[in-house]
Amino acid sequence: MSVNSGCIKTTCPYCGVGCGVSVQLDKHAVIGVKGLESHPANFGKLCVKGSALHETLDPGTRLLFPKINGERVSWDSALDKTAKGLQEIINKHGPQSVAFYLSGQLLTEDHYVANKLLKGFIGSSNLDTNSRLCMASAVVGYKRAFGADVVPCSYEDLESCEVLLLIGSNAAWTHPILYQRMQEAKKNRPGMKVVVIDPRVTASCDMADLHLKLKPGSDAFLFNGLQNFIATNGYIDKSFVENHCEGLEESLATSDTCDLNTVVKVCALSIDELLEFYRLFTEHSKVISFYSQGINQSATGSDKCNAIINCHLLTKKLGQPGMGPFSVTGQPNAMGGREVGGLANQLAAHMSYLPEDIDRVGRFWHSNNVASREGYKAVEMFDAIDRGEIKAIWIMATNPAVSLPDSNSIQRILDKCELVIVSDCVEHTDTNAFADILLPACGWGEKDGTVTNSERRISRQRAFMAPVGEARPDWQIISEVAVRMGFGKAFHYENPKDIFVEHARLSGFENNGSRLFDISAFENLSAQEYEDLEPIQWPVNQTNPGGSFRLFEDYRFYTLSKKAQIVPISASLPEHITSAGFPYLLNTGRLRDQWHTMTRTGLAARLALHSKTPFVAINPVLAESMTAKPGELLEIESRNGKILLPLKIDSGLGENEIFVPIHWSNQFSAKAKVSALIDKRVDKYSGQPESKFQAVSVKPKPIGNWVLLLTEQDFVPDFCSYWHKCILSNGYEYLLAIEKHKHFDLSEFLQKLSPDSDLVEFHDSEMADSRALCISRQGNLDAAIFMSDTLCCLPADHWRGLLLGKKVSEISWHLLSGRDINLPAVGNLICSCFEVGEVQIVDAINKGACSVEELGLRLKCGTNCGSCIPELKQLIQTFNMTHDQKVGSGSVSDISN
Ligand code: SF4
Repeated sequence: MSVNSGCIKTTCPYCGVGCGVSVQLDKHAVIGVKGLESHPANFGKLCVKGSALHETLDPGTRLLFPKINGERVSWDSALDKTAKGLQEIINKHGPQSVAFYLSGQLLTEDHYVANKLLKGFIGSSNLDTNSRLCMASAVVGYKRAFGADVVPCSYEDLESCEVLLLIGSNAAWTHPILYQRMQEAKKNRPGMKVVVIDPRVTASCDMADLHLKLKPGSDAFLFNGLQNFIATNGYIDKSFVENHCEGLEESLATSDTCDLNTVVKVCALSIDELLEFYRLFTEHSKVISFYSQGINQSATGSDKCNAIINCHLLTKKLGQPGMGPFSVTGQPNAMGGREVGGLANQLAAHMSYLPEDIDRVGRFWHSNNVASREGYKAVEMFDAIDRGEIKAIWIMATNPAVSLPDSNSIQRILDKCELVIVSDCVEHTDTNAFADILLPACGWGEKDGTVTNSERRISRQRAFMAPVGEARPDWQIISEVAVRMGFGKAFHYENPKDIFVEHARLSGFENNGSRLFDISAFENLSAQEYEDLEPIQWPVNQTNPGGSFRLFEDYRFYTLSKKAQIVPISASLPEHITSAGFPYLLNTGRLRDQWHTMTRTGLAARLALHSKTPFVAINPVLAESMTAKPGELLEIESRNGKILLPLKIDSGLGENEIFVPIHWSNQFSAKAKVSALIDKRVDKYSGQPESKFQAVSVKPKPIGNWVLLLTEQDFVPDFCSYWHKCILSNGYEYLLAIEKHKHFDLSEFLQKLSPDSDLVEFHDSEMADSRALCISRQGNLDAAIFMSDTLCCLPADHWRGLLLGKKVSEISWHLLSGRDINLPAVGNLICSCFEVGEVQIVDAINKGACSVEELGLRLKCGTNCGSCIPELKQLIQTFNMTHDQKVGSGSVSDISN
C-alpha cells in the first residue's frame, strides 16, 4: 500500500487504550496526526503523547543497519550468524538453553511467528515478554476466576456505570483518553460516583467523590473487608452464587478476619470513609472496578485481583452493562501478545501446556517438537542466564536493562550471556550496549499488522512510510532466521495477512467453544479484507461474526465446571517493610507525557517540557527535615543500589513515602534509573515483579557546582557524578552536578565541545557565578553555559531552549544575564499543546478565570488533547481558594505527580 497524499488509518503505539490515529500525508511526507473519528476507543481524540506522534519520526536515533559486535554487516551475515549462533548453542546445550524476550509493543503477527519458532520448532518454552511487568497478575486473576484470560467489559461500560472505582490507577496520566471518557460521563451524569483508591494524591483524584488514601499495599484487606461486609450485611446474591459460582464458603472463611475495625487499622482509613465506600459498592448494581499497575505490580498482585473479582461475583456485578472487573493494560499490544502465547506459561491461542494442548498445537503446526513444559518467566529467565542455564537470548523491542527490577544485575547478566541478539528500531539503548548482534527493526509508521487493546478490540496498525535504513519488519526477521535454521516450510509468509489468517485458524482449531479466544471468522480473510479490517472485539467466530461487546452475559464461564471461582484470599501486607536503615517506602510509576524508557517520546521537545528532569517526589515535611530544596539532589539507596535524583515536593504523598518515575535510562541521565533499586521479588503465581513497595533511605547529596548547558551536541558527560539531559527543538539542555572540590574548567570544556566557536565569558568570583557563550563564525549561538554553586541561581525559564542557533546580535546582551526580558516567565509547563505554563495560568486565575473553560478561552490551555485538564482543575482549586480566602499556598509542583 502506498498513499501519496491524504490520510492513513492506524493505531497509536503507546498505551493500552489503543486509540485510532489518522496520519496526514502530503507527497509521502507526514504533516500531522489526528485522532480517528471512527475508532471506537477514542472517537477522534488523542492525548498529548498521541498527538505528538509525528514529532517522533526523526530517523536520527534509529538503528539503520545490522551490526555484529558493533560493526556494520549485511543482512545475510547477520541472519546467518543469528541462526548459526542459536543452532550451535541448541546442539550443545539443548533447546531450553535458548530464550526470547519480547514486548507488548510488537504486533500480534510478530508475536505469533516468534512463539511459533521458539515454542513450536526450536522446542524451548523460555519465551516471555515485558507484559509480565504490566498485567501478568491480572491474567492470573481472570484465569482463576473465569477460566480464561479475558477482560469481560468494554470501554462503554465505564461510561454507563453508577460507581467507578479507580484502583491503583492514575488513569488521567496513564490512560488519558479513557479518563476523558470517564470525565465526560460524570459530567453528563453527575450522580455517577467515582472512588479513587490510591496511597498517592494523583491527577485522577480530580474526578473523585471519595479518595481512599490507603496504606500502600493494603488493598487485599480493603477488598476482603468488602467481601466480609457483603456477607454480613446480606448483600450476597444467593441465587447467582449458587447457580454460577464455586468456592463461597472457603472464601468467606478467609475474609472473615477482615472486619471493619481490622480494615480501618490495617489500611489506615477512617471508619466513615470505609463505610461510605462499602455502601457505594453494595447499594449500586452498576459498579466497575478499574485497576492497573498499582494492583498488579505486587508480590501478592494475583490475590489482590481475585479479592476484587470476588466482590463482583458475590454481588453479581458482571455480565451486564456498566459493571464488572476491568483491568487495563499499559502497553498497546499486551493482549495481542497473549493471544498467541506471549507468556512463558502459555501456548498459542490461549492454550496451555496440557498434553492435549501440546498435541493440538503440534498437529496444527506440523511439528513434533513443541515445548513440553512451562518456561521461565521474565525475572526467572534472567536468573537462568546468570546460572548459565540459558546461554542465548533474543530480545525484541524492549529494554530490560532499564525495565526489569535490580537492573544493575540485569546489565551484569547480559554482559556474561554467551549470545545476546537484539532486534530494535533504536540504535542506542541501555540493553543494546550488550548486544552481540543488533538487527534493525521497523518502527511505528513502517509496521503493518494488528494490535489488541484493553477491551479486546483488534485494530490494524498500518504502515505509512518506507522502512528507515535497512530496517525490516520483526515477523520477517524471525521468519528468515527460522528458514536458516531449517524450518522453512512452516515460515514461508509473504505478508502479515498470511500470519493473521493462520493465527485465526489456530484459534478455531478443535475449539468447539472450549476456548474463549476465537477469531476463526477471519480464517479466510482476503488481502483486501485484511487491509480494510475495522476495529472489532473478540471473540469473532460463527456465533459472533460481528465481534463480542460484552462477555459472560449468560454467566457461563470457562472453568471445568463452567462456574466462576470465588478464590479464597489471605490478605497480607508487602513483605519488604521499612526498617531503621531503609525507613522510606518507594513507589514507582509513569508520567503524563513520557512513555516507557523515552526512546520515542524522548525525541519530542514538546513532550519534554511537562517534566524535563527526572525527580524524586517527597512530602514537604520530609524535605524540610532534610533542609533540602526543590531541584537539589537526593541520594536514594536500597539494598540493591543507589541513585541520585533532583527533589520535587509533593504534598500528596505520605510522610514516609516517596515516588520516582520509571522513564529515565542511562541515555538521558546518570544514576537516575529507579529500577536499580527494586528487588527481584515477584508474585508467586504471576511472576510479576513488585515495583511499588521498596524500602529505601534518602539523604541530601552535597554538590559543589551546578552547570546548565545548552548545546546542539548530544554527548555523555561521564565526568560528572550526576547529569540529565532533555531534548530541545534545536539541541539539548543538560544539567550537570559537579562534586565538591572537583575542578571544572568552564572555558576548557566549552573549547572542547565547540572548538571552532568564539568564547564570551563572564565570571563573578564573589558570587561563585560563571557564564559563557560559544558564538559561531556566523554569529550564531552554538552553546551557552551557566555555572553556580547555588542551583536557584541558574536561569530558570524555558526560554533558554529557544536561543540555540539564533544570531547573538538578535538576542542581545541579556543572554549572559540568564534571562530574556522580552519573554515573560511561564513557570512549569502545564499545557504541552499550546505551551502554557503555571505562571500564566495562575495569573489568569488571579484575574478571575475560575473554570477550565475560561482558562481555555484566555490561554487556549486544555482545548486540544485535554491531557492537562486535571492539572488545570487542581490549579483552579488551589489558587482560586488562595485568591478568595487568602489561605493555603500551593504550586503545581505540589500536585503534578
Ligand atoms: Fe495513545 Fe494517548 Fe490514546 Fe494511549 S490514550 S493510545 S497514549 S493517544
